[in-house]
Amino acid sequence: MGSIANWLAAMRGGVRGRCLLCRARADLPGLCRPCSADLPPVGARLCPVCALPSPDGAVCGDCRAHPPGFDRCLAAHAYAFPVDRLVQGLKYRGLLSIAPALGHRLAIAVRADRVPDIVLPMPLAATRLRERGFNQALEIARLLPPHLAARLRPGLLERTRDTQSQAELPLDQRARNMQGAFVCRERIDGSHVAIVDDVMTTGATLDAAATALKQAGAATVSGWIVARTLLGP
Ligand SMILES: [Zn+2]
Ligand SMILES: [Zn+2]
Repeated sequence: MGSIANWLAAMRGGVRGRCLLCRARADLPGLCRPCSADLPPVGARLCPVCALPSPDGAVCGDCRAHPPGFDRCLAAHAYAFPVDRLVQGLKYRGLLSIAPALGHRLAIAVRADRVPDIVLPMPLAATRLRERGFNQALEIARLLPPHLAARLRPGLLERTRDTQSQAELPLDQRARNMQGAFVCRERIDGSHVAIVDDVMTTGATLDAAATALKQAGAATVSGWIVARTLLGP
């Protein structure tokens, strides 16, 4: 993990400017240290598959009963204030200056994961990419440490259907909306893929993407998520 430690040190050394949240001097990418320490945690005891709270940190009942296409998830933060505002600022207001803060938070969260063969930003549908002008998952993923960013394969997975926006659908319809929405462009037999995304809510999008990667031969799929929505009971 020496390379990540070096990168973190270099990022700190290269930090310029003000904290996105309080305007104090930023001593971390995009954030000051106190604001960074206050970001909402995702919790200590989590299901290793879906990253939702699980009493003893064991695989939860839902993941045991209906194993998703992905093998595990690592989430940097809960999708709550002010992480939600940072994510929305990047995604909906095009504030690309937020991406380094989110990339840095994600890098810290995933540093214990095995280095994957492929880092894959969650693809957007072509129409949405045209509307937005950028893929926020790619903007975050390209700011991961160089040894991970070097494994970026943004074109590997294609979003074949322009599915209705997941955010506009009731939770129970999101899985069906995503079925068959992705196709992998080549065989990736035996590989470990990490899918980077800004937000995970039901996991339906990640499940569909991971299923397509498994069909193309992926051995392991991790979800690397900046902000996990902690669904209420
Ligand atoms: Zn601050
Ligand atoms: Zn679970």
